[in-house]
Amino acid sequence: MQEARRWRWLIAALAVVALMGAAACGEEEPTDTGAEEPADFPAGSTMAKLVDEGRITVGVKYDVPLFGFKNPQSGEVEGFDVDLAQRVADELGVDLKLREAISDNRIPYLQDGTVDLVFSTMTITTDRDADIDFSRPFYIARGRILVPGDTDIAGVEDLGAGTTVCTALDSTYETVVLPEQAPEAEIKTPDTYSECFAQLQRGSVDALVTDDVILAGFLQQDESMAIVGDDLTTDPYGAGVKEGDTEFADFVSSVLDEVLEDGTWQELYDKWIGQYTGQEPEDPTDWTTEDAFEEYPCVE
Ligand code: GLU
Repeated sequence: MQEARRWRWLIAALAVVALMGAAACGEEEPTDTGAEEPADFPAGSTMAKLVDEGRITVGVKYDVPLFGFKNPQSGEVEGFDVDLAQRVADELGVDLKLREAISDNRIPYLQDGTVDLVFSTMTITTDRDADIDFSRPFYIARGRILVPGDTDIAGVEDLGAGTTVCTALDSTYETVVLPEQAPEAEIKTPDTYSECFAQLQRGSVDALVTDDVILAGFLQQDESMAIVGDDLTTDPYGAGVKEGDTEFADFVSSVLDEVLEDGTWQELYDKWIGQYTGQEPEDPTDWTTEDAFEEYPCVE
């Protein structure tokens, strides 16, 4: 009995000393957050390098509401692509640093190491695959047309001679879609979609042509506009990594597989897209990168 009391006292005394120690140093005792230990990545892999640096730099759009948008109120960059970039950073156990990557510089940014990864409304195409590597497809977008609500333009057949159409420089619409489907229209190609949208609002162009989800974001900003016509394309989005880094592309694909399986994809769809468009999602689970190449075979 005496023995037990002595032990209880000793334990209580040790606890007091531990508390005093913590208070004296002004430091929080480390608590178990339940976070998983960072996974062990192969030495020399991009994943191991990023873990070592404690940070991943991801190129996203800053002017595309719903996918990658710098919110002027909060100053935060947000959207579907941004949340996926965050998930990759979380799986690596590193901080996420974002960098604006527009359609025209996202591939050069991967090539010169400005960014480690790109999530920038980027369609997987055979031509781009010659310069970078792609993850599995994670979103299936469709090409559409945005016009002022009071226009006569009802579809691509109305984008003929005398009409002016805007899309972003180096997008699939500049390089493939508009030359094939609206060869008579005059095409304007500023760097960004927000510039196209500003030109459409000013009346300096007749239509803005790009992916439906990009147009849906602009429609939220100006409901006097309308999305018209049938689907022009199927644009499967992928994440981009440096050419030849198959190991990292496979890692990103495995994160996207998980996102699709664990319900996160549906949550992100509802949060960023479904609540605005009211449309049912197209499930990209069964899409492979090879399927995506068939949508955009070699042009050059
Ligand atoms: N998804 C298309 C592309 O990658 C259009 C959107 C964009 O320019 O980012 O070209």
